[in-house]
Amino acid sequence: MSDKVRCTCRRCSIRSLMGPAVITTVGILFLLSQFRGGYLAFHHTFPVILIVIGAILLASSVAPTDGHISSSTMPPPPAPPASPFPGPPQPPAPGQGQ
Ligand SMILES: [Zn+2]
Repeated sequence: MSDKVRCTCRRCSIRSLMGPAVITTVGILFLLSQFRGGYLAFHHTFPVILIVIGAILLASSVAPTDGHISSSTMPPPPAPPASPFPGPPQPPAPGQGQ
């Protein structure tokens, strides 16, 4: 799982619905096209996708941003843990040994 801090303000919550809403809309339109066809064929109903996208963008733009967490103010990711294995062997320094 991702350990990213997700903003839960209204605007970001609404905006996060964009993908699921578009996929669901496309599925419903294809279903209507399969079952009804004719006037409900996909080439007649595809503007509904644009309407859904516009409605979500409009709703997110007027939603309050109370408690918004900007991605630029998020803390940096934690440093990766130190490797339990030692690094490659170091060649002897010149002038040492032999
Ligand atoms: Zn937010």
